[in-house]
Amino acid sequence: MSVKGKRAVVIGAGFAGMAAAALMARDGMDVTVLERNASAGGRAREWKTEGFTFDMGPSWYLMPEVFERFFSLFGEKREDWYELVRLDPSYRVFFGPGEKVDVRSEPEAAEALFEGIEPGAGARLRDYLEDAAFKYDVAMREFLYREYRTVFDFLNRRLIVDGLKMKVLGNLDAEVSRRFKDRRLRQILEYEMVFLGTDPKAAPGMYSLLSHVDLTQGVFYPLGGLTAVADAIRRLAASRGARFEFSAEVEAIRAEGRRAKSVAFRRLDAEGKPAGERGELEADVVVAGADYAHVETSLLDASSRSYGEKYWASRVVAPSMFLVYLGLSKRLEGLAHHNLHFREDWGTHFDAIFRKPAWPEDPCFYLSAITKSDPGMAPEGGENLFLLVPVAAGLADDDATRERYADHAIRHAEKMLGEKLLDSAKVRRVFSQRDFARDYNAYKGTALGLSHTLGQTAVFRPSMRSRKLANLLYAGQYTHPGIGVPMVLMAAELAAKAATEL
Ligand SMILES: Cc1cc2nc3c(=O)[nH]c(=O)nc-3n(C[C@H](O)[C@H](O)[C@H](O)COP(=O)(O)OP(=O)(O)OC[C@H]3O[C@@H](n4cnc5c(N)ncnc54)[C@H](O)[C@@H]3O)c2cc1C
Repeated sequence: MSVKGKRAVVIGAGFAGMAAAALMARDGMDVTVLERNASAGGRAREWKTEGFTFDMGPSWYLMPEVFERFFSLFGEKREDWYELVRLDPSYRVFFGPGEKVDVRSEPEAAEALFEGIEPGAGARLRDYLEDAAFKYDVAMREFLYREYRTVFDFLNRRLIVDGLKMKVLGNLDAEVSRRFKDRRLRQILEYEMVFLGTDPKAAPGMYSLLSHVDLTQGVFYPLGGLTAVADAIRRLAASRGARFEFSAEVEAIRAEGRRAKSVAFRRLDAEGKPAGERGELEADVVVAGADYAHVETSLLDASSRSYGEKYWASRVVAPSMFLVYLGLSKRLEGLAHHNLHFREDWGTHFDAIFRKPAWPEDPCFYLSAITKSDPGMAPEGGENLFLLVPVAAGLADDDATRERYADHAIRHAEKMLGEKLLDSAKVRRVFSQRDFARDYNAYKGTALGLSHTLGQTAVFRPSMRSRKLANLLYAGQYTHPGIGVPMVLMAAELAAKAATEL
């Protein structure tokens, strides 16, 4: 069948769904995106209230070249769609009350920071970052923008040679601890594993490439927040002819033999409750950008599922996140745009996520103050804060528990900063497990899908192609290459390419 006029239905208007829709529409396909929420972005939605504009999910803009490449696929320039600034400092780390360092993105600044904390560590960081740059280049060239259909695609000779050089088999914590003794330096080199939903002790050593991303490439901020980027991709897709149906929740992918034939959906009202109206779209191709486990277990008949319940139950699920959106009527002195707080014994927090699931008593957390770069995100003189504690997926999340834990986490943040937050809070909203499950149909309320353990990397992630329905494809953070906005843009590119070739 020729690509022109092929009917594609995309499930979900997150980054993955919208990016795949844009690419398929560019190629002449007739594309409709069905999204259960009332607005675009998925986990990267926007929430506005009382003059505050919150980025509900992602806030770190990393790997800018991936976004540049994405826009170039349309003959477009990213700068014509949104403005980018480089953050300086990239982020501030609080190791305990009053003990903080600013991490700058020039490698020389990072070397000086390391040398100042542990004599000799500056030169060792230089070597470490050279190695990270090598791994990053190999990953970009060989691993990431590649579809793995069988284990042999993963294990070809070239990849084995590069893979061994990339220390695919070691673990990151061992890699780092071998070179750096001071726990603060080790934390700066390992914290990004939380972005990948993984404990540093379980993350393959190759993920040290992420230090190339934050310490060498730098951390950027798109004016208007990450939701401005999501909105740009929605506009780009619409400009190429993709249609968006919001408040339209997919109920079933109907199959005939080995093909998906149509996608059935129902309309939701402003509260996300069924509004009565139903519809069905015929499809030549279906691209699922919604949570993979939900699509498999709730939208497909048992005979059309690639993976059974047992498969999902045996996966290492990435953490959920306990989020508090706080709108303050005052400015805070001690914060940078991105702020991280690492406890001395952060292992107990990782245990509470991965080994003995519980609300972490002494949490490590991330506090974003977007107003430091974009004052318009709060009323004049106010501060827009986003507090994030990574927590195990599947914890009980009732009203009493979440409010108690919000107080607990905010008190920790106040202690870290030495400044009061609650006395000037005009807005306070918690978003956690049950919200991820309700708003995004997230498996066990996970924020991020599946962890990046070695057994859940590349060909070992759920397959981009359904094993049962020849014209059903998956994009998004559960499949290869994985978690994070740049990664799901890559997944979308792979899925859209496969869709045009079907
Ligand atoms: C709090 C938080 C912070 C993060 N921080 C960062 C960061 O700083 N930088 C970074 O790069 N990444 C970050 N990430 C990860 C990143 O946001 C995700 O990996 C990425 O946005 C996932 O995109 P996606 O399109 O795969 O999924 P989603 O964004 O979840 O999109 C899936 C869409 O499908 C819709 N859907 C689900 N079921 C149905 C249905 N039945 N019918 C119709 N629609 C349906 C959902 O509503 C949703 O809109 C963060 C994530 C979270 C949650």
